[in-house]
Amino acid sequence: MEKRPTSATIDLGALKTNYFQLRDRVRGGAGVLAVVKANAYGHGDVEVARVLEGLGCEFLGVAIPEEGARLREAGIKKPIIVLGGLFPNQAGDIIDLGLTPVVFDASTASILNSAANERGTVQEIHVKIDTGMGRLGLRPEEVGPFFSRLKGLENLRLGALHSHFAESEREEKRFSEEQMTGFESSVALIRQMGFDPKYVGISNSAAIIEHLDGARFNLVRPGIMLYGSYPDGRLRGKIDLKPVLELKTRILHLKSIPPGGSVSYGRRFVAKRQSMIATLPIGYADGLPRSLGNIGEVLVRGRRAPIAGTVCMDLIMADVTDIPGVQNGDEAVIIGSQGSEAITAEEVAAKAGTISYEIFCRISQRVQRIYV
Ligand SMILES: *Cc1c(COP(=O)(O)O)cnc(C)c1O
Repeated sequence: MEKRPTSATIDLGALKTNYFQLRDRVRGGAGVLAVVKANAYGHGDVEVARVLEGLGCEFLGVAIPEEGARLREAGIKKPIIVLGGLFPNQAGDIIDLGLTPVVFDASTASILNSAANERGTVQEIHVKIDTGMGRLGLRPEEVGPFFSRLKGLENLRLGALHSHFAESEREEKRFSEEQMTGFESSVALIRQMGFDPKYVGISNSAAIIEHLDGARFNLVRPGIMLYGSYPDGRLRGKIDLKPVLELKTRILHLKSIPPGGSVSYGRRFVAKRQSMIATLPIGYADGLPRSLGNIGEVLVRGRRAPIAGTVCMDLIMADVTDIPGVQNGDEAVIIGSQGSEAITAEEVAAKAGTISYEIFCRISQRVQRIYV
């Protein structure tokens, strides 16, 4: 059937441009692990992964094995790294799907080793070191014992070492420097113990944009920058990224309301004058934060129109009184540009008290994706 016009347009050309910008920042011979977790930050995992695979990235990164399974079902052939850990009962599936888990405890390593042994294969693993994120990874004091155990696990092969920055987007770099120093010590120990991982990396988008690792390592894990968004507004001048996603709809209904007339739940918008109110078919069930009520804006006819009143599940209202000639069916841009005006995901995020990552991820399944 004909779909409602609420859609996320994904510009795969912009994705390519951002990938080339990324490659420019990474030294020759370094590996790129392009992060496509969470449905490629809402951009569509299979479509994005196909483009990145075509561009020759070395690895794709997902958070959970299920996301890796989706990519394999779609025919993606590149190594897929499961960044977010695994539970013991997922070990067999990971091997059967040809996924590469990130491992950081001996018992999981041992279960993977047995599963690989049963299948008569050698399974590649990546290992994560916790240098200060306090989330996943081996603490520095656990590195020696873990790798001693790993030596005896003959069906596992170490492909790469990872760590993860806690605040690489900040201007203050002291903690990030400490993390890198700690990581280098762990890597040195692991090498002394006879392991020779091909890749070692810690950098996410913010670190890549600022060359934070100074080419001390040879693997990067870009996420948000591929989608044309900046990990922090501070970084905007440092690299030219193109937004990949635009979120748009069309005016479903228009009405004129008198002074004193109210709009939406809780009557949080009350007209001060004769007002023209446009109703748009997008709401919090589509991923638009409810906190944008009376705060957010949309673009109509190249001009900004404030969101009037509370965001509903399926609808929002916009005050278009100051925009001449508005008609039913006019395009309304939530994220993206129109004429000479633009609303970035970062702007929407700031108004909603969050980061662009979350704005992208929450765009729901109900919003059709259109690839151009
Ligand atoms: C999500 C993620 C990234 C990508 O981070 P960006 O800030 O989007 O570049 C890198 N590494 C790991 C382990 C992640 O989970």
